[in-house]
Amino acid sequence: MSQIPQKTDVVVIGAGLAGLAAARRLTIAGREVCIIDAGDDIGGRVRTDDVDGLLLDRGFQLYNPSYDEGLSVLDLKALDIKSFSPGVIVSIDGRSYKLADPKREPSWAVDSLLAPVGKISAKLKFAKYALGLAISKSSSTGYDQRTDAFLRAKFGKDLTEKVLRPFLAGVFLEPDLATSKRFLDITLKSFVAGTPGVPRTGMQAIPRQLAAQLPADSIRLNVTASAVASTMVRTDQGDIRCRSVVIATNARSAKILVPSLQVPNSNAVTTWYHLADCAGAELTDGKSTLVIDGKKFNGHIDDPTRPLVNTVVMTNAAPSYATGNRTLISSSALGVHHSSQAENLVRSHLAALYKVSTSNWTHVATYPVPDALPMMAAPHDTEQSVRLSDGVYLAGDYRQVSSINGALASGRRAAEALLVDDL
Ligand SMILES: Cc1cc2nc3c(=O)[nH]c(=O)nc-3n(C[C@H](O)[C@H](O)[C@H](O)COP(=O)(O)OP(=O)(O)OC[C@H]3O[C@@H](n4cnc5c(N)ncnc54)[C@H](O)[C@@H]3O)c2cc1C
Repeated sequence: MSQIPQKTDVVVIGAGLAGLAAARRLTIAGREVCIIDAGDDIGGRVRTDDVDGLLLDRGFQLYNPSYDEGLSVLDLKALDIKSFSPGVIVSIDGRSYKLADPKREPSWAVDSLLAPVGKISAKLKFAKYALGLAISKSSSTGYDQRTDAFLRAKFGKDLTEKVLRPFLAGVFLEPDLATSKRFLDITLKSFVAGTPGVPRTGMQAIPRQLAAQLPADSIRLNVTASAVASTMVRTDQGDIRCRSVVIATNARSAKILVPSLQVPNSNAVTTWYHLADCAGAELTDGKSTLVIDGKKFNGHIDDPTRPLVNTVVMTNAAPSYATGNRTLISSSALGVHHSSQAENLVRSHLAALYKVSTSNWTHVATYPVPDALPMMAAPHDTEQSVRLSDGVYLAGDYRQVSSINGALASGRRAAEALLVDDL
């Protein structure tokens, strides 16, 4: 690995999506940029391990092709996004109910309306609300409130508790749905506009594609910043003098570098990967529909014997995720879990959700992700300031919204603010 430079125009701290997006914009504007990252590869929270022909994303996550920032900086065709099946399968008392937008899954229309998960009027009202967001101009301003209060008041208890809470807990990575309704609206709007999926070669293909747009040698890995001033970044490999700095770390690391910074708490998740002992066609009708448990949050109480917030057959959407026609399952629970007892509970929950024996499934890997998503408590400002002080800028999903799109947008905004200040 080459040494860090002694001097450059801009130091970007963090080679996650925010840092890469900032560096891309600055490079286009003609700035010399050095990106440093404490990790051993680029991508931050978007990393993929290739383990014996299995592509294992470090935590289950999907890319939505409708993300506006992604449309302007990524080549989606080259990413070859493998879309997941729209809708969800809700498991309740040993029965599975299929719910989806009838336009996308016409064969599920009757099931969707008749499933005992809320009144038909509530389901239609929800569908109308989501479709309305898709054509509305802005969904990130105006009055904000907790998502759970909004959902219960608008769509009733049954639909909220049996479908929306179990589903959204896996999106927000928190069970209370104290997350901002503004983020709910942004999320629903993106679901209506695009079908999420994974790049054929794994989620890390996204940061790799951004890095490929930067000059060779502009990224230095295994370099940790320990102090920042407007004209200097101190690292464990020496000091880099510069004209400006973009701190594009996760929230927790930003707070270490800038102790006065107010940062949100993080929501945590753990993802388990298993290889099933049956063909993918035998699970969820051969589709890659997310399976959720309609009874997990019974009366708001999170049932620890049903640990999973969601599970999906990865290879039904992306066969490239496992060589040799193997069936790869990704399953996630809120919080951080390492133990073999946790894996046992997961395995029995999987048996109930897929209605097959899982005793011969092979546990492949467990990924606990403590700082998975910054909490976005209501009221949440979806475009927080990216200017910290003279010559020092902040990027990262916690400055915007906790998503790939939010991280990309925050990086672009930080770069644009720098370019305005440093003409
Ligand atoms: C399990 C999981 C599921 C998710 N699901 C989705 C999803 O389905 N859809 C979606 O849109 N988004 C999802 N997200 C969110 C999305 O991945 C993140 O919002 C985004 O990747 C954050 O990017 P970032 O650049 O802001 O931060 P990070 O990716 O955290 O990058 C920060 C970088 O800074 C580096 N760093 C930290 N401190 C230092 C230091 N002192 N010196 C040098 N380097 C440092 C780190 O090594 C890291 O590489 C998910 C995230 C996780 C973890």
